[in-house]
Amino acid sequence: MRVRYVCDSCRDVIYEVEDPSITEEKIGLDLLTPEERQYFVENQTDAVVLSILCDECSALLSGTDWPEKPSLLH
Ligand SMILES: [Zn+2]
Repeated sequence: MRVRYVCDSCRDVIYEVEDPSITEEKIGLDLLTPEERQYFVENQTDAVVLSILCDECSALLSGTDWPEKPSLLH
């Protein structure tokens, strides 16, 4: 099975792997609720596409709604 991780925000391909030994159980897809599955997982003809956030976008997003940023300057 081929698995492709794509950033949910910028749509960049973060990581792609093809391995016949990969199963849905192995990457934890069987643990998702149907709603989560619908949101995060897309079954394409050539691969299973998982939406996650890349480092840049998650840093950007967490940077914007961080309520009290600890200051390093004293
Ligand atoms: Zn991104």
